[in-house]
Amino acid sequence: MARLDERLDRVFDPRTAKVLAGALDLRTVGDLLHHYPRRYEKHGELTDMASLRDGEQVTVLAKIASCTTRRMQRKRGWVTEVRVTDGHGVLTLLFFQQRYLEAKLRPGQHGLFAGEVSTYGSRRQLVHPDYELIGAAEAGAELAAEYVDNLIPVYPASAKLPSWKIAKAIRTVLDTLDIADDPLPAEVRQRHGLSGLVEALHAIHRPVDETDMRRARHRLKWDEAFVLQTVLAQRRRAQDALPATPRIPRGGGLLEAFDARLPFTLTAGQREAGADITTALCRDHPMHRLLQGEVGSGKTVIAVRAMLQVVDDGGQAALLAPTEVLAQQHYRSIVELLGPLAHAGQLGGAEQATRVALVTGSQGARVRKETLRDVRFGDAGIVIGTHALLYDRAKDDERVEFFDLGLVVVDEQHRFGVEQRDALRGKARDSRPHLLVMTATPIPRTVAMTVFGDLDILTLTELPAGRVPIQTHVVPAAEKPHYLARTWARLREEVEKSGGQAYVVCPRIGGDASESNNSDTTEDPAESSSTDAGSGLAELDDSAAAARPPHAVLDTAAELSSGPLAGLRLRIMHGRMAADEKDAVMREFADGSVDVLVATTVVEVGVDVPNATAMVIMDADRFGVSQLHQLRGRVGRGAKPGLCLLVTDAPEGGKARERLDLVAATLDGFELSRIDLEQRGEGNVLGAAQAGRKKSLRLLTLLNDGKLIVDARQEATALVAADPGLASHPALAAAITALLDEEQAEFLEKA
Ligand code: ADP
Ligand code: MG
Repeated sequence: MARLDERLDRVFDPRTAKVLAGALDLRTVGDLLHHYPRRYEKHGELTDMASLRDGEQVTVLAKIASCTTRRMQRKRGWVTEVRVTDGHGVLTLLFFQQRYLEAKLRPGQHGLFAGEVSTYGSRRQLVHPDYELIGAAEAGAELAAEYVDNLIPVYPASAKLPSWKIAKAIRTVLDTLDIADDPLPAEVRQRHGLSGLVEALHAIHRPVDETDMRRARHRLKWDEAFVLQTVLAQRRRAQDALPATPRIPRGGGLLEAFDARLPFTLTAGQREAGADITTALCRDHPMHRLLQGEVGSGKTVIAVRAMLQVVDDGGQAALLAPTEVLAQQHYRSIVELLGPLAHAGQLGGAEQATRVALVTGSQGARVRKETLRDVRFGDAGIVIGTHALLYDRAKDDERVEFFDLGLVVVDEQHRFGVEQRDALRGKARDSRPHLLVMTATPIPRTVAMTVFGDLDILTLTELPAGRVPIQTHVVPAAEKPHYLARTWARLREEVEKSGGQAYVVCPRIGGDASESNNSDTTEDPAESSSTDAGSGLAELDDSAAAARPPHAVLDTAAELSSGPLAGLRLRIMHGRMAADEKDAVMREFADGSVDVLVATTVVEVGVDVPNATAMVIMDADRFGVSQLHQLRGRVGRGAKPGLCLLVTDAPEGGKARERLDLVAATLDGFELSRIDLEQRGEGNVLGAAQAGRKKSLRLLTLLNDGKLIVDARQEATALVAADPGLASHPALAAAITALLDEEQAEFLEKA
């Protein structure tokens, strides 16, 4: 009897086991049974020949139309040419030196044929395909009966292992399957009308009809969602069990003074999120919140209020930014927001004031030493930094030590791995600090539940009142060159007539032949991930990119300053510049002494210059949908309307152009991130760290199975609350072990 964890080499002969492992990485009975059909063919309904693509590995169900053998013209020997049909189109099968086939492959017979599609002249063909006749004496009576009224499963196959050989192996283990326990508890199955595991496995591989198959798929999707959500519920529970210092709001402290200073009233969403965080910080277990909200929705204010609550109660708060530019900017804007509240011990400082410290990798030794002293002795209530906060330099007196770290705020989560989050949290002394993660790349709720499943999610859905929406237009530079000239004229007008400022974004730095196509090489590791062209976009692109190298910052800046933008104050910024250089440029741009900033995607995340009203993105087709949305979020942050021009050579009607039109048509970041996920595939969006997880999600799609994921999360949370160690759910515990092993293996492979 075969159990799920039984090794296949104990079930099959060594050759079969070896092929299954080698061709498809299937090693256990469970692996094999979770290798689900890609689709099903119905007996009598033949595969649509028109749907076959060149180079594709296919399995087709077709009828033999003719079979002839002739002598080859150029070489010695015989070729047998079999024409098979779906009733409309024809596919040619070629066999060399196998004249005996003529007697076997007779017109009128149905069969499955597998191989790689190629084109010869105008004819589509499979050379030396594998085949299996249906209903023929040679195929055996059992097989013939099998195919008569069932759906025929078609498996993801490989050249070495055609679909029906996989089917045969699966049939063998299904017949002797011995599963004592179901990972889905009976009550859960009952509540959600789910079939048992054995039944579902039979039905997905050998469905009686379509309803049978759908029911099986639904149940098996539940397995995937439920096992994963149980892991996440366990993690949340373990986190919740850790001790943390409660940080109780103090009347008459910094927070009250800050609120009184705010030049605007908080939106309802900000108040709600704020209240939730206030409560969470009062608990004696660490808070884990993900705060997501559109660019400009006012997340920073929420973070500052949380930090002040902690400082008021004697603790410190750290804010981690993905780049130096952003850390510097946060530092400036927080110091400004706080005003006299940030000037402890200085002339004009308020009575309850604290200090804000900035720690970056590029700081000189003296400044750093002084700053770190403030951090160590607790004089700095708020500490802002990049990764430099995480990693200690060699010398002892340069270690980043906190007096009492109570809260960690991470800005723009998707640039930080879990390990980095943990490294910073490890800097708290006796207890865990509270954690607030902020992201401006909104992701659909069910995706967040899976990717950031150990965080509770807060979402800001509204923007502060009075914002004028950004206008976005596509500029088809290749088709209409004069549009590009108009673009620069428009930009000049924006600066000269309206007193605004502008960004010009290019995909490349330039000036270096060895530079790879589209990555902004930089000393700052967080920044290099900022160009997401290349991560999944390449395959779906029909962008004109291949024709010429994409626009580069250095060349574009030179052309503009001697051409269409002559006379304007232009500066460049990119990842190869030193941090203090970047900061100097940013400062000049922020205080209005620079008109146009020509930059790479270093300006992508969080850069906030309210007077910047226009952005031109060169080779916009090089960027992903979400990234374009992020970029344009840099303009129109003040009272003036924002303008974003997407310059592209991508031809009208193509996919790349369609993507740009979409971005131009909607300002809804959630909708755009959904499209991004759809287009680039979940695997690419989840990133390498999630690859193992993606692999375990065979049937489940995060975008379309929302309700199921929410239900599974609820059930899993309840189950873990009642039975944290899963003592009475051994099958579930085993499934989790298998999942974690898989993720671990994947992770180690990557490392
Ligand atoms: P995010 O970090 O979510 O992109 P910020 O916190 O940087 O957004 O806020 C964007 C701008 O809006 C800032 O200049 C901020 O001062 C301002 N702002 C924040 N909340 C409000 C509000 N409730 N009303 C008006 N302006 C606000
Ligand atoms: Mg921000």
